[in-house]
Amino acid sequence: MALIVQKFGGTSVGTTERIENVADRIGLFRDRGDDIVVVVSAMSGETNRLISLAQSISQKPNEREFDVLLSTGEQVTIALLSMALNKRGYEARSYTGSQVHILTDSAHNKARILDIEEKNLRTDLDKGRVIVVAGFQGVDEDGNITTLGRGGSDTTAVAIAAALKADECQIYTDVDGVYTTDPRVVPEATRLEKITFEEMLEMASLGSKVLQIRAVEFAGKYSVPLRVLSSFDEPNFDDEGANGTLITFEQDGEESEMEQALISGIAFNRDEAKLTILGVPDEPGVAYKILGPIGDSNIEIDMIIQNIGADGTTDFTFTVHRNDLEAAQEVLTNTAQELGAREVIGDDKIVKISIVGVGMRSHAGIASTMFKALAEEGININMISTSEIKISVVVDEKYLELGVRTLHAAFDLAE
Ligand code: ADP
Ligand code: ASP
Ligand code: MG
Repeated sequence: MALIVQKFGGTSVGTTERIENVADRIGLFRDRGDDIVVVVSAMSGETNRLISLAQSISQKPNEREFDVLLSTGEQVTIALLSMALNKRGYEARSYTGSQVHILTDSAHNKARILDIEEKNLRTDLDKGRVIVVAGFQGVDEDGNITTLGRGGSDTTAVAIAAALKADECQIYTDVDGVYTTDPRVVPEATRLEKITFEEMLEMASLGSKVLQIRAVEFAGKYSVPLRVLSSFDEPNFDDEGANGTLITFEQDGEESEMEQALISGIAFNRDEAKLTILGVPDEPGVAYKILGPIGDSNIEIDMIIQNIGADGTTDFTFTVHRNDLEAAQEVLTNTAQELGAREVIGDDKIVKISIVGVGMRSHAGIASTMFKALAEEGININMISTSEIKISVVVDEKYLELGVRTLHAAFDLAE
């Protein structure tokens, strides 16, 4: 008997029939004596529908009210799933984020979880109830409803698992685990039986939306055993290791880095845009003068390159989230005038492709394999950034599929 937190994503609860299937699955775990806390997303497409409703009223809806609206999607699914469980004879209780008291900061639309009251959850578990919690939402200290950012139900699940010290947090989705890359882009992608926490963190932060990055951060901070698996496959109770992908922590892996695959996966991100300021006077403090005002406008910067100066001027390029392109371009145009720069160019037809692997630490030549493979396909690299366990390149958007497929083959990830 174990305490398991199970999270079901939008596709897994996309119709009432699927919700009934989820109830059947939870029943199998209850029947073998497990205590279950369930976290659900809104039915697939629902959060997008709510966003467009808001946008039909205002392009910049009031943030507090926007969260009140967005949180309703999950309230529908908790009630339906609890009904389905009760119908099957499993006592279940649904709770919104604020009822559980998932305390967050007040950053509407991207709130962070600060604390979860476990007392009430324990009381229900002790009474043998299945607890069904609305993902993606919480409440701030003034009682305002908050939401946690797209994909935030993953984070709700991991945070609850951490608070309850659950034996495992299972993230059920529409693929049967974490793959070497998005199987919708590369059909030959293979499922990883396990992936290190560090690699998963990189994959998530570099654009693999299979897990929200904050969920992975939480799992790391509190050592929550985390597994990604399919809500459409039968659970394999005889060999639980065979289910999905386990996120491992290095201390419990026996494998040394030398034995690790060089590259575990390929991530990509379609959400970035590139800004270039041309002909900036090349003098000390230029980077600060350009990026300072961007930071002051609360715009996050990802990659940065500054070219070697010629004729006393230099060019400077950086990337931001696509949603921030317009605002960043406005700020940068002002800076350009102040600095006497020649021109500002914005480009949202770019993507970032990254290879990730802890094996990279102990092997040379990975970068050249990557660049050679891209060159052979005629894919021009605009920007490069590296860390110990990843290499990212920015390329034209039209090369996304080709680039990911090429790298997947170059690093033999299909086997
Ligand atoms: P859910 O609604 O269950 O939260 P998401 O759409 O958020 O599901 O995440 C699952 C999707 O993540 C998959 O359908 C897949 O297209 C995508 N994905 C991206 N990268 C990967 C990867 N490396 N492994 C598996 N799935 C991935
Ligand atoms: N329903 C929210 C979304 O679509 C949260 C989630 O599914 O995790 O982003
Ligand atoms: Mg998701």
